[in-house]
Order: sequence, then structure tokens, then C-alpha cells
Amino acid sequence: MELDVKTMFVVTISVTAILGMLLILSWYQHRKIEALAWWGCAHLVASLAVWMIGARGSIAPFWSIEISNALLFIAAGMTWTGARLFDGNRVSLIGLIGGALAWILAAQSAGFMTTPSGPVIFSSMIISVYTFATAMEFWRGRQESLLSRLPLIVMLSMHGVLYLVRIPLTLLMPVGENEPFFSSAWFGVIGLESLLYMIATAFILLAMAKERTELEHKAAAMIDPLTGVANRRAFLDAALRRLKQRTRDPQPVAALLFDLDRFKAINDQFGHPVGDRVLRMFSDIAVSELRSTDLLGRLGGEEFGAVLFGAEVGSAAATAERIRRAFAESNATLDGYHIGATVSVGVAQVPSEQPVDVETLLTRADEALYVAKARGRNRIEIADAYSESARVAPRGEWTPAKPAAAAADPRLVAISMGLMPSPTVVPDHKPAAQTIRRPVLASGGRG
Ligand code: GH3
Ligand code: MG
Ligand code: MG
Repeated sequence: MELDVKTMFVVTISVTAILGMLLILSWYQHRKIEALAWWGCAHLVASLAVWMIGARGSIAPFWSIEISNALLFIAAGMTWTGARLFDGNRVSLIGLIGGALAWILAAQSAGFMTTPSGPVIFSSMIISVYTFATAMEFWRGRQESLLSRLPLIVMLSMHGVLYLVRIPLTLLMPVGENEPFFSSAWFGVIGLESLLYMIATAFILLAMAKERTELEHKAAAMIDPLTGVANRRAFLDAALRRLKQRTRDPQPVAALLFDLDRFKAINDQFGHPVGDRVLRMFSDIAVSELRSTDLLGRLGGEEFGAVLFGAEVGSAAATAERIRRAFAESNATLDGYHIGATVSVGVAQVPSEQPVDVETLLTRADEALYVAKARGRNRIEIADAYSESARVAPRGEWTPAKPAAAAADPRLVAISMGLMPSPTVVPDHKPAAQTIRRPVLASGGRG
């Protein structure tokens, strides 16, 4: 098949320019991804360079050889710079223009441009160095698992290899002194490959930027913006998933439900911004006290939940108590004011052999939390057998049982009114009971 060189030039110049404009348009829509602007400009500069190369014979050799190639290397440097920026690295000016500078300097040396293979070998080297460096940048950022990363790395590497292979082949089959420039076999191969490479890179780069934006939106939809922990939906989804896994790999599990005490009063007294800081303080403490395998989420307002996998009742209670105490101690004063915010915690735990679903576990923890509130706040309570009723809780997304469930349970109403002793909060596990009881009794009374 004969490739018409002129047609190929026209196609390459126009397609590359259009893709450059598309990339810039995409940057305009996603300003945060500056790399898109760099890649767009790289395509525009490459389009100009190809036009200058194609104009050989009509414009001075200085422009059609020296400057056009220098522009091509700057375009490669810009693509590399975009890759650096995409993964959070800085722009390197010397890296950006290094290839073009080396080329211009070499072109000044007597005889370089007149040797048949010298310029081809040197320019191939520069292009392959830039292409491999770009592939390397994308490879370094691979911990961000974007689907388009791998095909892009493969494509860049193939492009780099082609230019590397061009070096020995140019030596083996040098361009004849009198052969017309555009007729060399390499010209067709390189020209066609470059066109396909420009099209493919533009599309993959666009796809990658889009993928990142989508990933960020998805993450933002899962995270509570105030505290940075999982929001209610993400927390419940993760708990559901992990509890499903637990059916295959049995292990004890515990749920902790936290509700900041008299938080409305804190807002009323110190203002909403201080309330927000107290919420952040609480989530920071909870994060630092939990293990990386535990789940933590803000269920709404001043309520948080945690699910601890592999936790026996003693260790779950100890974790809840550490968080309660650390929180009470940490925010005694804020900006010179005595805030004195505290938290009540409900703990529910099931041993490894007992199946449990999210609703049941959280409802039991919620009942224990209600007891903690009823018994004076700033304390932890552990759900035990009295929450048998929770096992028949309706299915669907879990919602806090208060006050309806509490009202439905005459025992809890009675406790909160001080008519009967609490159904004990500490189950059979004695050591845990001791850890918990002391601070509980020492804590403040109900208001
Ligand atoms: P209790 O000890 O019984 O839990 O009393 P409480 O005042 O904490 O409970 P209540 O449910 O009456 O009040 C919760 C308060 O939490 C009311 C609401 O203004 C506040 N709140 C909810 N979300 C936020 C938030 O994002 N920031 C701040 N500053 N306050 C919030
Ligand atoms: Mg509440
Ligand atoms: Mg509260």
C-alpha cells in the first residue's frame, strides 16, 4: 500500500491540532487538572512542528529542520511535564527545554546537519528519552489505580522503543545523500505511527483525567466534609460488606455508637463553629484510637459509629472507654473557654460463632447508648441479652431506635425514669466490667 505523504501531513497537522484544542477544552472544564492544558498545548506545538517539517523546500532549512525539530522536542517535554503535574510533581524547566536546547546546540556544530544519519539518530534519542521519561512518570503514580494508566504506559513504551530501534536501523540503512527526504521508507512508518500515537495519547489522556475526576467525586460522596471520616452511607455500606465477608471467615465483631452529650447546648453557648471544631476533635481522637481495620463513620449530626472486627467484648469496651476518656480530657478548654464536651457510647459485641447483620448490631449498640444517656452520659454501656428484641428489628437501612424504640421497650423507659435498675451493662466478661465501671460511676449525673 502506498502512503501519500502530502495527505498524511495534512491529516496529521489537522488532527493533532483538533486534539490539542479538545484537550484544552477539557482543561477548561476541569481546571484543577493543569496537565490537560499542558497536553493540549503539546499537541498544538507538535502540529505546528509537523507543518514546518512538511514545508521543507518552501521555507528556509533553519525553520524546517532546526526549529521544527526543536518544537517537536518541546512538545515532548510538555507532555512529560503534564505527566509530572498529573501526579503532583513540579515543573522542571530544564527538563522541559533540555531536549530542544541540546538539539539547537548540536545544530551549531559544523557538519552535524550535513551528515546523513546524525540528525536522525540524535532526534530519535531525544524523543525516546522523553517518551520513556513520560511513561516512567505515569508508572511512578500507579498507586492511584486509574484504569487508563496501564494502556498509556504500554503505548508510550512502544513509541519509545520504535524511536530507539530507529537508531541502529538508520545506521544500517542510511538515507542516501541524493535521495529525496520524504521518500525514505522510515518516513512513512514514522509518520503513520506518529499520527496514531498522537490520536491514541490524546484519547487516553482525556480518559485518564475523566477517570480521576469521577474517582474524586465518588470519594467526596463517601466522605463527611467536616470530619473527613466516612459518611453514613459509606459507613453502612462498608459495614454491610465486611459483615458479609465475616460469614465466610468468622470472627468476633463489635459496634460502638457515639453520641456527643448535650451538644445543642455547646452550640448555643459557644457558637456553631466551635461545635464544628469539637466534632472534628472527636473524630480525630476516634481515628487515632481505632485500628486501621476498624470502620468509623459519622452517622449524622453529633453521632458517630464504629465497627471493630476481631474485637472481643473486653477490647471493644476498652477502646470505647479510651475514646470517651481522651475526648473528655482533650476538649476541656478551647480558645480559653471551658467547653467540657463529653460523649456517651453504646457497645454491642457478638462472638465469632454468632451470625449478625448490620441492623441488629447497630440497634443493640443504640439501645446500649440510650442506656448510657439515661444513666447520666459521659459513660459507656454494653448491650447484652436484654436486646433480644432487636433481633426482630425490621430490615432495611438502619436508623437510630430512639425515641420510638425506647418508648416501645418499657424496661428502657423505666430505667430512664429511674424506676428500675439498668439491665446490666456488663456481660459475663469480668475484666472488662472492671475497666468500665469505675469511670462510669465517676462520671457526671444527668440533667
Ligand atoms: P444528648 O446529650 O441527649 O445527645 O443531647 P444533644 O444536645 O447532644 O442532642 P440533640 O439531638 O438535641 O442535639 C444535637 C445537636 O447537634 C443539635 C444540632 O444543632 C447539633 N449539630 C448537628 N450537626 C452539627 C454540625 O455539623 N455542627 C454543629 N456545630 N452542630 C451540629
Ligand atoms: Mg444525637
Ligand atoms: Mg447528643
